[in-house]
Amino acid sequence: MTFELSDRVETVPPSGIRRFFEIAEERDDVISLGVGEPDFATPWAARDAAITSLEQGKTSYTANRGKRELREAIADYVADRFDLGYGADEEIIVTAGASEAVDLAFRAFVDPGDTVAIAQPAYISYEPGVIFAGGDVLPVPTKEEDDFRLTAEALEAAGAADADVLVLCYPNNPTGAIMPAADLEPVAAFAREHDLTVFSDEIYAELTYDGEHTSIATLPGMRERTIVFNGFSKAHAMTGLRLGYALGPADAIGAMNKIHQYTMLSAPTTAQYAALEALESCDDDVREMVAQYDRRRQFVLTRFREIGMDVFEAKGAFYCFPEVPEGFTAEEFAEEVLREQGVAVVPGDVFGEGGAGHLRISYATGLEDLRRALNRIEAFVEEHA
Ligand code: PMP
Repeated sequence: MTFELSDRVETVPPSGIRRFFEIAEERDDVISLGVGEPDFATPWAARDAAITSLEQGKTSYTANRGKRELREAIADYVADRFDLGYGADEEIIVTAGASEAVDLAFRAFVDPGDTVAIAQPAYISYEPGVIFAGGDVLPVPTKEEDDFRLTAEALEAAGAADADVLVLCYPNNPTGAIMPAADLEPVAAFAREHDLTVFSDEIYAELTYDGEHTSIATLPGMRERTIVFNGFSKAHAMTGLRLGYALGPADAIGAMNKIHQYTMLSAPTTAQYAALEALESCDDDVREMVAQYDRRRQFVLTRFREIGMDVFEAKGAFYCFPEVPEGFTAEEFAEEVLREQGVAVVPGDVFGEGGAGHLRISYATGLEDLRRALNRIEAFVEEHA
């Protein structure tokens, strides 16, 4: 017997990067600049809090929306860091990673036939999330000449005026672009004018290297139409603990909780204790990791320029997005540099429109490995020039 797959599952293509893992397995000296995951260990105080909670036997479900203390800490943190005012009772939900929050939002607010505009290049999970919810994706390409920032012109040109939801992610995965307040305003005006709901993925909000992050939800008239996603995976190096959250108006978060309470019940309890401690005592650890990412970012940008590859000045997250030299597609470059030099990078095409001809380089890797990887890329480019 074979299982008959749902149309939704059949529609989603397999991940474009699986092939690269297979090639990577052929060599044992691969340096990976491919994964979007911090190389740092979770700050010790957060791990210790998780261990203590286990020792004390705190292994039951929590409230559906997450431990009240944690929601209060999140409310204080986002107010303090990003000027976002959300109440712990009804306007915050703690989820199993930002991933669950994104999925809940698609399922809570997208009906079959609804259009979800996605600013691209974009994190690879949005498009499948829309499809699983029965919606239609409308790619909105951003351009390198605009520093990969979303513009009202790009929204207009893509036909986003008729969309129902707009998804944006700044600081951006995969480009490293950020959106300063002045650039967000025309996008917010477009959303207000065309009555779009905005999903703003701000999981890299702490990781900016040129000014502070601004949330689109802080702009006039935006709080009531925006859901903000954030979490502990990136800034607090807690990917495996699976903890994130969403912020939004009470009725919206209530709708997301309606799905969450049946499908997840509550986010991982041990991770909630770790997250509470992370917010209470790990600011210095975060600052130190950000400083190290910034050093790596500058090193990687400098090296690409020395190698002669054009690279956009990434200012956030832990990615940069160089152009492949002439004579290669991004896929070819990524495949050949992996086979010949053992460096794993991701071709920009997998992130949707606007990504072709680029590579995503993650610098969530130690400086020594970055140095070796960039030397290998240099050797590859020199050989094929
Ligand atoms: N959003 C973006 C833009 C990401 O890059 C990632 C992780 N790669 C996520 C969400 C998912 O994060 P989490 O581990 O919190 O589910």
